[in-house]
Amino acid sequence: MQIIQNQNIKNYNTFGIDVKAKGFVRITSENDLYEVLVRELSPLKIMGGGSNILPTDDIDAYVLRNEIKGIEIVDEDDDRVLVNVGAGEKWHNFVLWAISQGLGGIENLSLIPGSVGAAPMQNIGAYGVEQESTFHSLSAIHLESGVRKSFFKYECKFGYRESIFKNELKDQYFITNVCYLLKKNHHVLNIEYGAIKDVLKQKSITSPSILDVSEAIIEIRQSKLPDPRKIGNAGSFFKNPVISPTQYNNLLASFPEAPSFPQADGSIKIPAGWLIERIGYKGKTYETYGVHKEQALVLVNYGGSKGRDIYNLSLEIKGAVFKRFYIDIQHEVNIW
Ligand code: FAD
Ligand code: NAP
Repeated sequence: MQIIQNQNIKNYNTFGIDVKAKGFVRITSENDLYEVLVRELSPLKIMGGGSNILPTDDIDAYVLRNEIKGIEIVDEDDDRVLVNVGAGEKWHNFVLWAISQGLGGIENLSLIPGSVGAAPMQNIGAYGVEQESTFHSLSAIHLESGVRKSFFKYECKFGYRESIFKNELKDQYFITNVCYLLKKNHHVLNIEYGAIKDVLKQKSITSPSILDVSEAIIEIRQSKLPDPRKIGNAGSFFKNPVISPTQYNNLLASFPEAPSFPQADGSIKIPAGWLIERIGYKGKTYETYGVHKEQALVLVNYGGSKGRDIYNLSLEIKGAVFKRFYIDIQHEVNIW
């Protein structure tokens, strides 16, 4: 295990923010992690693919980059397969592996950047599916005590882009591996969301496979989202707000055209992108950074911008949305 002092992490965060970390350690095994704990390196920050963080300054901590690999089938029955995945595997590689094995359940989560270990953090979701629908359990090591603990689904408090690891247990556990239950038989595809059906129709696919759905989603995502290798970004900067029926009625009184998605518990989800577009921030550019011209939810670094500037822009947008709609939008990206 090597500790690199003053490591520049520009190439390790998809925003491409040029900052240094006091120390940088690649964690390729649990032994590496135990060595960090025995040496009492402190403070520690955990990083996967760096696709959901915004560093605002040099990092006065040892950054532990999770590179624990491995994908292994550990159990199966007639319909399902239990797969144990090293938390440092790339999420999309895991999706491709599942598809190659004919295993269904995560095809709608194709092309989400980042690591498997970060997927439970914010319960990643896209195209009508969240990782919790196939999540079984995970193993994690408590950074203070070094004690290993398994977390089953009911303990993770998964919610809309939420989990216990983003809240009560924030920065306390290093997730080392995650188990998913995938379907080998009787898998039901979810193609109702957005343009999936249209893309399948354009390709004259009437009886889609999991590969067809994955490829359709990859095509849609590539046509809509900025590629972080070309324009620095961390995906949606804000979560979609979920509001009460009373708040919704107030919104409708002034903005009857507001798009909305009713939730099972009676609350209503409003696309944050629409709110931001309505206050005129979509495509707004400030020399090196701004709001993407096609995706109002995505803040971008065109090259050379400071994390602090992007963070301040996010606060300005948050304030302006509140002023116009009385709706408080929350950051989805982790501010470092
Ligand atoms: P990082 O950015 O490295 O870390 C994120 C947080 O998780 C940090 O707080 C970190 O400390 C913590 N963390 C990371 N690994 C561990 C670990 N092993 N143990 C404990 N804590 C850990 N998200 C979606 O939900 N749906 C999408 O469709 C989606 N699309 C995106 C598209 C683009 C172009 C981009 C850039 C991002 C997108 N995201 C999306 C956001 C992002 O890809 C996910 O949140 C992803 O899970 C982050 O993974 P990561 O490994 O890069 O995490
Ligand atoms: P979109 O399909 O244009 O939809 C805009 C918003 O409306 C989305 O935020 C979505 O909420 C909501 N929505 C649309 N159809 C819905 C439905 N049938 N039921 C419930 N909610 C619906 O969004 P997009 O920006 O192109 O993204 C497509 C998918 O990829 C979305 O699921 C989005 O969350 C995901 N994505 C996430 C990130 C990220 O960083 N988190 C980045 C890019 C894309 P939901 O977000 O809840 O789905």
